[in-house]
Amino acid sequence: MRFIPVAEPVMCGNEKKYIEECLDTNWISSGGRFIKKFEDDFASYCGRKYAIATSNGTTALHLALTVLGISRGDEVIVSDLTFVSPVNTIIYTGATPVLVDVDKDYWNIDPMKIEQSITPQTKAIIAIHLYGYPCKMDEILALAQKYNLFVIEDCAEAHGAKFGDQRVGSFGDISCFSFFGNKIITSGEGGMCLTDNEVLAEKMKTLLNHGMSREKKYWHDVVGFNYRMTNLQAAIGLAQLEKIDFLLKNKNQISKKYNENLKDLGDLIIMPKKNNWAEPVCWMYSILINQDKAGVDRDELIKKLKEENIDSRPFFYPIHQMPPYQKYQGPKEFPVTDYLSAKGLNLPSGANLSEEEIYYISNKIKNLLKNK
Ligand SMILES: *Cc1c(COP(=O)(O)O)cnc(C)c1O
Repeated sequence: MRFIPVAEPVMCGNEKKYIEECLDTNWISSGGRFIKKFEDDFASYCGRKYAIATSNGTTALHLALTVLGISRGDEVIVSDLTFVSPVNTIIYTGATPVLVDVDKDYWNIDPMKIEQSITPQTKAIIAIHLYGYPCKMDEILALAQKYNLFVIEDCAEAHGAKFGDQRVGSFGDISCFSFFGNKIITSGEGGMCLTDNEVLAEKMKTLLNHGMSREKKYWHDVVGFNYRMTNLQAAIGLAQLEKIDFLLKNKNQISKKYNENLKDLGDLIIMPKKNNWAEPVCWMYSILINQDKAGVDRDELIKKLKEENIDSRPFFYPIHQMPPYQKYQGPKEFPVTDYLSAKGLNLPSGANLSEEEIYYISNKIKNLLKNK
């Protein structure tokens, strides 16, 4: 059996052809036809008016917070169980991240606990759709309306997922995506901001290009950034977007196959609760190891799987536990992120994973959990 990675890009469309076009036409930097096309097509895929391509997902988030005017003295609410990037971007603006515990059944930020964390300084909520599972957007939007807050969606792990019958990325004042190599579609490195607000869209386009006036070259009314995407990145991103239905279908199949193969483990493993309000995508196939029943703990399982050439990843560490962020914990407790983070495991979920490989991985897990 080959070494099975947790994720890998699958270049199954026009990637090479588009890259060759960039090279043949010399449009390799941040001008060229693929950027606009990638933006337009991605906006319409998610059901939004405006898209702004960026150099990566983190710069997309920072750009979004900046154009919404988030700055020193403000507070931004964010999940304690996440990849660190959205928390860092809050800190870049000078604002304070307010960490909030997650929902035990669905693993995303808990709307009830959001409300308890709102103060007069609160300006925005970042809703992160973790591991492909959509947040409860109806409750989050209702809170935002009640307290007059901005909502930023972090969709870096959930391209194509739906809340109700709308794709994620269509709910926030601004929604941010990443196209890093391990995401559902990739541009190598890359990101995108989506919005329906024309003023915000124009501001983002200016800010990401050094704040340069769009009418008068080399005139700067604001201090901007260089957060531009290149035509080379967009060439790959566009080719990937053309295949997104295929990639998501494969990933959905992978999740089904794992479910079937792991079914007889019963409550030795735990999945997020089923519901009828969301249609998740399988960015990573994620489970919790119920150590009390399984007899094996998560970290031991990771080690044993590695010996069998199977890569896997523990869930993210709770943000509040790590040195630069401990000061944001305050008197709060985060029992659910502590619990999920200690038990959660992501299994290989690349779109090219074969049925045979899923069977192989599942069998190893079954043996390891049952023969402790
Ligand atoms: C990957 C990721 C990001 C950041 O994306 P980069 O393109 O690596 O900067 C942001 N948020 C979440 C939840 C992510 O998983």
